[in-house]
Amino acid sequence: MIDKPAGLPERIQHYYGGALHDSVSGEVFDVLEPTTNQNYITAAAGGKEDVDRAVAAAKKAFDEGPWPHMLPRERATILNRVADEVAKINDELAAIESFDSGLPIRQAKGQANRAAENFRFFADLIVAQVDGAFKMPGRQINYVNRKPLGVAGLITPWNTPFMQESWKLAPALASGCTVVLKPAEFTPVSANLWVDIMEKAGVPEGVFNIVYGDGAGAGDALVKHPDTNLISFTGSLATGKIVYGNGAEHMKHLSLELGGKSPAIIFEDADFEKALDSTLFGVFSLNGERCTASSRILVHRSIYDRFLEAYAERANKIVVGPPSDPVTELAALVHPEHYEKVTSYIEIGKHEARLIAGGGRPHHLPEGNYVEPTVFADVAPDARIFQEEIFGPVVAITPFDTDEEAIELANNVEYGLAAYVWTNDIARAHNVAGAIESGMVWINSHNVRDLRTPFGGVKGSGLGHEGGYRSLDFYSIQQSIHVTLGDVHTTRFGATGYSERDLGLGGPSA
Ligand code: NAD
Repeated sequence: MIDKPAGLPERIQHYYGGALHDSVSGEVFDVLEPTTNQNYITAAAGGKEDVDRAVAAAKKAFDEGPWPHMLPRERATILNRVADEVAKINDELAAIESFDSGLPIRQAKGQANRAAENFRFFADLIVAQVDGAFKMPGRQINYVNRKPLGVAGLITPWNTPFMQESWKLAPALASGCTVVLKPAEFTPVSANLWVDIMEKAGVPEGVFNIVYGDGAGAGDALVKHPDTNLISFTGSLATGKIVYGNGAEHMKHLSLELGGKSPAIIFEDADFEKALDSTLFGVFSLNGERCTASSRILVHRSIYDRFLEAYAERANKIVVGPPSDPVTELAALVHPEHYEKVTSYIEIGKHEARLIAGGGRPHHLPEGNYVEPTVFADVAPDARIFQEEIFGPVVAITPFDTDEEAIELANNVEYGLAAYVWTNDIARAHNVAGAIESGMVWINSHNVRDLRTPFGGVKGSGLGHEGGYRSLDFYSIQQSIHVTLGDVHTTRFGATGYSERDLGLGGPSA
């Protein structure tokens, strides 16, 4: 029997209207631990009836208040308390996240602080928020009346799940929305921590609600529910397309943060060692289960062989081991289904390209979802391992000769989430970055960002950008109110004949 982390409940239950609930159907699903794939806890498997109840609780809390009508400072005070509670459970969260999702414990350690920062950041933004007023002298004043959009449906993936949840919960709650969260079914355990956190922080009853279950059951019902005014979804492109279609009936506001196949372009004048460190970290940290992973590396032909040799040598030395071991750099993938997907891509890659490191299960780890850091070289742009998101510790390396070719290769995929450009030529860095079809580009660095900047993808990587005030805008209605200051000229239908001015042809307009 495996040792569970301390402090887990007997079973994971939905939470709505301020209380815990089993599924109406009584159904549960098994939660597996990825180093043995043994079931260690069960979670309530939500369906339409559970979603109906949770949405009703969220709607009641929205319609009856006080949450949407609180002063920004009052809501910010509660959000800061949420952040304090999150920061307090750093060790507990790291242990649970690592155990449940397979994230190496060393990389799980920072998750609580990052999640807490999301709450502090959006608490700061709402107290400093300014909305516009526009004056047409002597005629009108127009102003923006910002209002929370309503009940927010939040659907999250299983990679760094708690942090991903905080990235949606913080701006949704800051905006004054009430929420129903649907965490990923592979990793529901850390989401359960929110219940205690929200209660301790004083979030009013019905403002935060959570329904567990799979996408076809709970996720689908949340998207189709007539009373969820918006859906913020993070997940795969395939599911994103379904959510996009299902949102149409009720004209849902949608934010879709989807997958990626992000290129790192390394030019001949780059700082070789830094580019090497960064591209290794970029694809092998978080077990390669990272939306912004640099999973394609494009390398200038003049340094290609040297790069391949150095990259493969380092990849072979990456420490693969149990998630709980502090020296582990790469641990078990989240779930056997995902392990099957990643290893099937490795087999495809063996027919498409040249394997230069890894390619299978590490010999010292005979059970669990372990995969060696796997590196393919000479990957052609039409190869599936070049085009499709694998979402594991597998990287495709391809040579290029000119800047134009590098840009063309970078853009030659369905996705457009992130990109990384490595060069010491200032003009080239900016020109190449600007020409890449992606929502985000890092020049000579990886994945460190300021929360005020736009976050999101283009093409198959998503719709809408969050980050900073963009997130608050997504969860809000910005109503324009136009107030007349002087006499309003009204074309007098049914009165006298029309003059040119009556028809609005002569006068100035805004
Ligand atoms: P997924 O699409 O399988 O599932 C994501 C969530 O959607 C889960 O909660 C799932 O239960 C739910 N879901 C599934 N079918 C649904 C449906 N029909 N209606 C409503 N909800 C449904 O994705 P995943 O495998 O959990 O996560 C990995 C993917 O997420 C990768 O593609 C990764 O790149 C992407 N991701 C993107 C970002 C980003 O910010 N762009 C961040 C993290 C992960």
